[in-house]
Amino acid sequence: MSHRTVPLKLAPAGLVVDRHEIGAAGITVHAHSASPTSDCPACGLASSSVHSRYGRSLGDLPAHGRRLRIRLSARRFRCRNAACERQVFTERFAHDLIQAHARRTSRLDVLTHAIALALGGRPGERLAERLSMPVSADTLLRVLRRRAIPTPSDVRVVGIDDFAWLKGQRYGTVICDLERRRTIDVLPDREGGTVAAWLAAHPGVEIVCRDRGSGFREGATKGAPQALQICDRWHLLENATAAFVEAVKRHMGDLRRAITGGDIDPEVLSSTLRISGSAAQCVDPPVEEVGVNFDGVSAGRGR
Ligand SMILES: [Zn+2]
Repeated sequence: MSHRTVPLKLAPAGLVVDRHEIGAAGITVHAHSASPTSDCPACGLASSSVHSRYGRSLGDLPAHGRRLRIRLSARRFRCRNAACERQVFTERFAHDLIQAHARRTSRLDVLTHAIALALGGRPGERLAERLSMPVSADTLLRVLRRRAIPTPSDVRVVGIDDFAWLKGQRYGTVICDLERRRTIDVLPDREGGTVAAWLAAHPGVEIVCRDRGSGFREGATKGAPQALQICDRWHLLENATAAFVEAVKRHMGDLRRAITGGDIDPEVLSSTLRISGSAAQCVDPPVEEVGVNFDGVSAGRGR
């Protein structure tokens, strides 16, 4: 079904809507630029001399729960500046309307970026589908990378850690400026060579804060030999916790004997066990059948 009288708000400001169609796949809006001229990207001179037209397809904000696409009739212009190296150029749009080579309007790109920031790849893909603005997980991650804040040239203290593009399958590396407390780059993998190349391109780095794995250690040593390498607090705590758990496991027998040398005092049982009546079951069995969890002094059947 085609309509010729349509609200202008179906397309962003700066575009003129010619008509729109509503179908099973969503709404298609046919539009063209509201501006009669465009500036040459080489010399900046405005031109109104149209050379030819071509079609562009752009995703835009959904409307009334339906996916919306804009079929844009774009133009090529002749540059009338005799001294200019460009004879023909494609028309430019305002940066906050449509960016060069973009496949979605800038206002949709802003929302896509917000979803990618909040949810990442797969969960973001699922939410975007529900919002009638489908976008793939890979595209969400590309948008994140494209809109990343440029790396400051004077970055001095960096934190390096890995993260999952796809859990269990593909990992990347996130680099943070720890003095500015913000992410400054995302690397496609977690290889030491990739990290080394990044650090080599940022010779001002004085401190590298990393985990205790060999990959980042080698990358930092090779790419930033001038930098001091330190372990970050999170990984130190994680390593200390793992060591503690391992020590408790090794000495579980001693702990059982020390804690349950006689009858179990119900006071040391967890509230859950006492309320559920399991305490009686735990007191009755012989000592060697009673287990102790280190995450609270609770007891249950031996393991
Ligand atoms: Zn020109």
